[in-house]
Amino acid sequence: MPANMSRMTWQITSIAAESIRSHERRVHPEEACGLLFGGDRRIEEAVPAPNVSPTPRHRFEIDPKALFSALRAERQGGPRLLGYYHSHPSGTFDPSETDAKLAQPDGRLWLIAAEGRIAGFIAGNTGIHGRFQPIALDED
Ligand SMILES: [Zn+2]
Repeated sequence: MPANMSRMTWQITSIAAESIRSHERRVHPEEACGLLFGGDRRIEEAVPAPNVSPTPRHRFEIDPKALFSALRAERQGGPRLLGYYHSHPSGTFDPSETDAKLAQPDGRLWLIAAEGRIAGFIAGNTGIHGRFQPIALDED
């Protein structure tokens, strides 16, 4: 992906990035998915969630129980849910049209892991498929 200085830059801890990469490797050729927690433009934690899609090699569906409990914890003062990650076993780096249909334009973060690389997007009303604005990720 070419560098683009106009992109918003987010930090991701190396622990969170490695958690995503190891999850991707562990479930390949199925899609890995999980939840992202952290603070202002900073991803501190990536928590694997079960992929409950009936076709996990081609789709992902974060276990709603994991999602709801994260949202409930956030409301009760727990870690802030920044968004979601999933992997593309095909190696394709960009969000798919299916991803665009799934995503709400809610400003949450979407990370996509493909062959050990991680790309970041903000879900809104512009960008790829009219839904995903690319961001730059700075791993520390
Ligand atoms: Zn996808």
